[in-house]
Amino acid sequence: MHSTERPIEEILLATRNPDKVRELAVLLGGLGIRIRTLADFPTAPEVEENGTTCEANALKKAREMASATGIPSVADDTGLEVDALGGRPGVFAARYAGEHATYEDNCLKLLRELDGVPPARRTARFITVAALAMPGGHCRVAAGTMVGVIAEACEGSGGFGYDPVFFVPELGCTLAGLRAEEKNRISHRAKAFRAMADILRPLSAGKR
Ligand code: IMP
Repeated sequence: MHSTERPIEEILLATRNPDKVRELAVLLGGLGIRIRTLADFPTAPEVEENGTTCEANALKKAREMASATGIPSVADDTGLEVDALGGRPGVFAARYAGEHATYEDNCLKLLRELDGVPPARRTARFITVAALAMPGGHCRVAAGTMVGVIAEACEGSGGFGYDPVFFVPELGCTLAGLRAEEKNRISHRAKAFRAMADILRPLSAGKR
């Protein structure tokens, strides 16, 4: 933190997804920092995610929310890198099968593109970047990754997004085969937000 910035009393979680809010509030709990959500700021702007990296998108969302609300803001962005596809879909994971693609459309497109690719070459990773932006402009970022293999068919009924096709060899199942608490303990997002909690802890007004 810059010397001109005050200790943090509250942060805004810059996401409109209630599942994420619940998950992130747990990961950022216990820091002595009050967690606010966009429900408290109904007029906050929609931020267009048009960056070419997860870091650029996370920083853009956090910066725009911090400047619109005057509250230190935390945002995240996740990508899926598939090695056999040269890193695609990457930052475009949400729109892989088109602008209004469903999770299922995206999974099926991925399976089609990897048709005939042997298991050893189906390696992939999720990357989450979490960004903190202070109203004064200073920013910090933290990242978390999770490695796995793209399965040959959808499997499991839990989770969301690419979970049914993201097989984790050590666990012997896809992310969609895990209970929410299990996934939230080991996921790319959990790792990024635990690292973000480490950044926030010494900046907390509650800890001074
Ligand atoms: P976002 O940046 O968190 O909105 O994620 C972008 C896209 O990545 C989502 O629309 C999902 O398709 C995918 N994604 C993000 N996190 C996960 C996850 O934990 N499991 C599966 N897919 C995910």
